[in-house]
Amino acid sequence: MTDTAASPRILAVANQKGGVGKTTTAINLGTGLAQAGHTTLIIDLDPQGNASTGLDSPSDQREITTYDALTGQSDLSDAMIETPVENFWLVPASVDLSGLDVELSTENTRARRLADLLSNHALTDRFSYILIDCPPSLNILTVNAMVAAHGIVVPLQCEFFALEGLTQLLSTVKGVQQSLNPQLKIDGICLTMYDRRNRLSAQVEEDVRTTLGDVVYATVIPRNVRLSEAPSYGMPALVYDPNCAGSQAYRSLALELISRTSRTRAA
Ligand code: ATP
Ligand code: MG
Repeated sequence: MTDTAASPRILAVANQKGGVGKTTTAINLGTGLAQAGHTTLIIDLDPQGNASTGLDSPSDQREITTYDALTGQSDLSDAMIETPVENFWLVPASVDLSGLDVELSTENTRARRLADLLSNHALTDRFSYILIDCPPSLNILTVNAMVAAHGIVVPLQCEFFALEGLTQLLSTVKGVQQSLNPQLKIDGICLTMYDRRNRLSAQVEEDVRTTLGDVVYATVIPRNVRLSEAPSYGMPALVYDPNCAGSQAYRSLALELISRTSRTRAA
């Protein structure tokens, strides 16, 4: 897959640690990109289906899902549905995804399923960005996302053990780079749930920036209750409360990511 200006930039939102803000980031970053005029697709690759629910596609209303596309039972184009946000499309998840590891265990193309679907340029070139919301695991689903992606967005929760687990994630990335996807990069690491009343958040930020440097986005996502309320209304926080601190931060993250994309493409 070539990363030309006409093709979408494909980003996996991944961290095998649970509850660090992957889905919140995928939904609100995607909305920020769409609202900035970049047509965006979010692929829900997590059997939990939280990105789908949070974008007004509850489990009992999903028809064609990521599972159907990955198993070849439906075309990816038929699985794409509109979200409440203009320019923002969704491929919803299904709980069936949790069995995919076993179902595909004997197939030698099992890690390339998503990459093959997204290499259909007639289908994907109308998008500027494709975000993949990964499950909290380094299983075949996350590996499929890494094989399909140009970059990874890693949400990192501002807590004491923030950096733990990152080594494992980075070694999986390295494995994928050396085998199936040499172009894969970490697009950036995004600090989430930053609590400015808590000294620990500031310490974690300092620690992470010292250790990891420029790969950490300048934007930090604050802990903000509006971000956690929005999914129960089936809408992104950027729509539910566009002016809350969380929405402002995700808009700023979207702009930062867009400027990284143009730097990457110019390089
Ligand atoms: P999983 O690993 O289960 O997929 P995840 O990494 O996708 O989880 P989220 O679902 O985005 O994480 O977030 C976990 C919980 O924390 C959710 O209830 C979400 O609403 C809440 N949350 C995420 N980010 C923030 C934030 N910045 N401020 C407040 N709450 C947040
Ligand atoms: Mg999630």
